[in-house]
Amino acid sequence: MAGEEAPPGALNLAEYALAGARTVDCFRRIRKIGEGTYGEVFEAMDIITGERAALKKIKLDDGKEGFPRQILREIKLLKKLDHENIIRLKEIVVSPGPAHGTGGSDDHMYRGDIYMVFEYMDHDLKKVLHHSTPSQVKFYMKQLLEGLHYCHVNNVLHRDIKGANLLISGGNLLKIADFGLARPFTRDGSFTNHVITLWYRPPELLLGATNYAEAVDIWSVGCIFAEFLLRKPLFPGRTEQEQLSKIFELCGFPNEENWPGVSKLPLYKTIHPVTPTKRRLRDIFQNFDCHAVELIDRMLILNPTQRISAQDALSAAYFIH
Ligand code: AMP
Repeated sequence: MAGEEAPPGALNLAEYALAGARTVDCFRRIRKIGEGTYGEVFEAMDIITGERAALKKIKLDDGKEGFPRQILREIKLLKKLDHENIIRLKEIVVSPGPAHGTGGSDDHMYRGDIYMVFEYMDHDLKKVLHHSTPSQVKFYMKQLLEGLHYCHVNNVLHRDIKGANLLISGGNLLKIADFGLARPFTRDGSFTNHVITLWYRPPELLLGATNYAEAVDIWSVGCIFAEFLLRKPLFPGRTEQEQLSKIFELCGFPNEENWPGVSKLPLYKTIHPVTPTKRRLRDIFQNFDCHAVELIDRMLILNPTQRISAQDALSAAYFIH
């Protein structure tokens, strides 16, 4: 199969199998650890090396729909990204499936299950989000920003930064995981605004923006940072409308003065000012480290072009003191 092109939507195993297409029989399954959009995640052990791994099963719908496009994108991105704070995709393995290699035009359509093999991580950040010490918080935030800065300089948006997608291992080592919604981006691109889990979704996406950039991920980081301090979610909205109201109550109401161009966003006309309309985000953080609050304040700026970048955040006073 080497050197051959797979038809659109199909997985070219020759291209993606990182260490030859080993089968899943090379692993001893230990337990189910999670449920992803495209299938289950298992803890397993490599029978040959004894190494622990996380196996993400990609359920193929009998080959009818081809390979999920989103998973293809995730594999392509993860193959390119190489950073200590980004989860490592070690290889792709397959389970023997019926009816492949029978000749004909769908020769490339693999009919068994396919697994993404990741380095194993102990747990996710959600577990420690509400009971971490200030020094742990600083270390997690630094690693999150380092990983995200690496994504952004490589023109990749993660688009689903939240506690469940940040994995922890070996004490306090943090890695960004689940690139299922990630995508490469260009400044003049137009993308769907239906991304990022509601509580961590920035106002520009909630207002229908389709031309957006790195700042969408930074908003999510600001929400997580605030959640670390408050020990509860900052903006736990139940609907998109309620999410916007909660944001405006703390960050003020957007207008052409504080966010030029906001009134042209598709959903701007559907929103109504809340009282008070002035920004009062800092008020709820009065008893916290002033450098931490200063950084949160710069991450949660309504106007995405004014929001701090991952690179600038890393040189903020919070990380120096
Ligand atoms: P995902 O589809 O990537 O969001 O994975 C679903 C869940 O499986 C996550 O929330 C984690 O609890 C778990 N999980 C995913 N990847 C790993 C990994 N590399 N190590 C340990 N657990 C993982």
